[in-house]
Amino acid sequence: MAMSGSSTFAILVLVLLVVVLAALLVRQVRQRRQLRRWLDAPQGELPDGSGAWREIFSRLQRLRKEEHKAHLLLKSRLDHFHQAVRALPDGVILLDGDGHIQWLNPAACGHFGLDATRDIGILAEQLIRGIGFQTLLADFRAGRDVLPLALPINEGMTGKRILSVSLIAFADTGTLLLSHDIGEIVRAENIRRDFIANVSHELRTPLTVISGFLEQLTADSPPPPESTRRFLSLMSDQALRMNRLVGDLLTLSRLENAADPPREDRVDVPALMDSLLAEAQALSGGRHTIEPGVIAPIRLRGSADEIRSAFGNLVSNAVRYTPAGGRIVIAWQEDGEELLFTVTDNGIGIPPEHIPRLTERFYRIDKGRSTATGGTGLGLAIVKHVLARHQGQLRIESKIGTGSTFCACLPCERRIAGRDRLEADEVREHQHDRGVPTR
Ligand code: ADP
Repeated sequence: MAMSGSSTFAILVLVLLVVVLAALLVRQVRQRRQLRRWLDAPQGELPDGSGAWREIFSRLQRLRKEEHKAHLLLKSRLDHFHQAVRALPDGVILLDGDGHIQWLNPAACGHFGLDATRDIGILAEQLIRGIGFQTLLADFRAGRDVLPLALPINEGMTGKRILSVSLIAFADTGTLLLSHDIGEIVRAENIRRDFIANVSHELRTPLTVISGFLEQLTADSPPPPESTRRFLSLMSDQALRMNRLVGDLLTLSRLENAADPPREDRVDVPALMDSLLAEAQALSGGRHTIEPGVIAPIRLRGSADEIRSAFGNLVSNAVRYTPAGGRIVIAWQEDGEELLFTVTDNGIGIPPEHIPRLTERFYRIDKGRSTATGGTGLGLAIVKHVLARHQGQLRIESKIGTGSTFCACLPCERRIAGRDRLEADEVREHQHDRGVPTR
């Protein structure tokens, strides 16, 4: 049975429609599949779409780019923050709710001897030992107020470190453990405490003596006149001792607190040495041979008062710690790099273990001898400060029973050059007048 032309056309159109619809369906399915695949693993390239899909894909692409940018920004901020915490001189340890270490910075590793990889996940109390730490943790966990703990940490051969340890709650259950090295502060505080105790003690001794004599002098039956005279003389000695001590304390405090650099006087050291030699002779009372050594024609830029006080202390120490009959030589010269003021004696000498500590305030090897010769225990501390203010340093060489050389070493830049320098001939004359050997 033959079909009419119009029916054939209708069938053809229908078939075509079915084919087009099928093709569209296949494309939809393929693009959906591509989208699903991309959503499963969004790292790869987005598929190319057409029609509505193109719009969806391009929006997704834009979203992805924005998200990527935000991710990079976040990452760089996090890296920055990480680097900042890593660079902190204070220790930072993050603990989880149970006290396991989650993260720590290099300072914390150094403070507690921990390892940033090996020790992650371990309980802090198993690794951090020290008196009071367990109690601090327990109090913190119990919600009690805790103050920073001063925690001494033994460091094997290298001694002890003192840390201030604080705990801070963060997020919901986390704990931040912060550590700060307070060794220097504790040492400075100990020095301050010792200093106050020493000053009080040094002042109390003469005061006790004076008040003892005063009691006797004002008693109902006063001592006979010859004892009274002796008491008054001893009281006067003690008053002088206190005066010297207070004077040295004031000098030291001025030097320590001076914010300004020292004055820039032209110090005529050869002339100063003349007066130091005369003072030393007076202090010695003829018991020693006191001679000038090499005296270079060099003037010095610095505070005349401070230099006089420092050099004078070294000279008077030589007289005080050299037994009668001893010899003391004072010299001033340049060795190419430094200007050297040296005082050499053949006195009692100093055991080597004491030498590094001699410039500490009130450090004396033999307190009886120091006090008996009018010492305050502050002379070398003053010398050290004066030299440091002039960019110099004190060097000490000594041998017990043989004697000592104290050298105040100053940088050559402090030499006054040019026409201010004494002429060499002038100096040779200077030395000749005194019968001094020329180097
Ligand atoms: P002091 O007032 O006790 O002399 P210093 O600070 O001047 O205090 O000196 C500290 C200590 O150094 C002295 O007590 C003494 O033990 C020692 N000392 C200083 N100079 C000499 C020296 N020339 N020879 C031996 N010992 C010295």
